[in-house]
Amino acid sequence: MSGRAAVPLASWPSSRAIATGLAASGAIGTLAYRRGSLSAGGVAGAILTGTTIFAAGGAVPSSLLLTFFISSSALSLWRRGRKGAAAEVEAAKGARRDLAQTLANGGVAAGLVALGRVSPGDRWLPALVGALATVNADTWATEVGLLSPQAPRLITTLRPVPPGTSGGVSPLGTGAAALGAALIGGVAALGTGVVNRRGRAGLGLLPLALVAGVGGAFADSLLGATVQARYRCPRCGVATERPIHRCGTPAVFVGGLRTVDNDVVNFLASLCGAVIGAGGGRVLARYEWGRDR
Ligand SMILES: [Zn+2]
Repeated sequence: MSGRAAVPLASWPSSRAIATGLAASGAIGTLAYRRGSLSAGGVAGAILTGTTIFAAGGAVPSSLLLTFFISSSALSLWRRGRKGAAAEVEAAKGARRDLAQTLANGGVAAGLVALGRVSPGDRWLPALVGALATVNADTWATEVGLLSPQAPRLITTLRPVPPGTSGGVSPLGTGAAALGAALIGGVAALGTGVVNRRGRAGLGLLPLALVAGVGGAFADSLLGATVQARYRCPRCGVATERPIHRCGTPAVFVGGLRTVDNDVVNFLASLCGAVIGAGGGRVLARYEWGRDR
């Protein structure tokens, strides 16, 4: 189980790996900033998490992060080309991801990569796959779900809610979540099979990502519908998830927990995906993962 002992404990990535990671995540962050999907703080968060994953994670974690970035950017570009409710929701949520949002999305994955450097072994990769499958599933569900012809329903009460409401789910969004999770699993399976020569052992990462990603996205909706802070703008009379409505009016707190905002929910959801992934990794280990070496 402990794997290759050749990697010394707490080994620091080479300066070349760090430089490459900085250059790659800096380029991605700059691109996203120019496209209007990241704020300056968001660029800092992307460089922090991106450099950690690129420099300390190696080929497979890096390719998973790139898969998330490229697929979610492509989906966002495609969706922005369509009009309707999507533009309204984007204005309400704020189009640019800030520092807290990028750390909420990439923090668990970067933390797992860092743990993998401190204590090398096989157990971190399934958890990492679960965390990134959740982030990708959630992003895909949001982007594609906004195009749903029917109103989403709250995951707890199943009552119809306005598009973009935290905890709202739709068949289209759920299908997109499954595809987004499966894509991460496919790349992970391919990566471990080809790069790490794990052969069929890596194939188990595909169903693992699907279960962990959909499970994590489900947790995201459940937390969003229950504990996430909910506000109402007294001036516009609409629900919002932010304490200050976009019209500038302080919103009235109406439910949930004040300390739990959307970023906390995203972070907890990807942590949940990581835990499901780690559990799945133990199941894989029992059958074939780690046996063929
Ligand atoms: Zn307002």
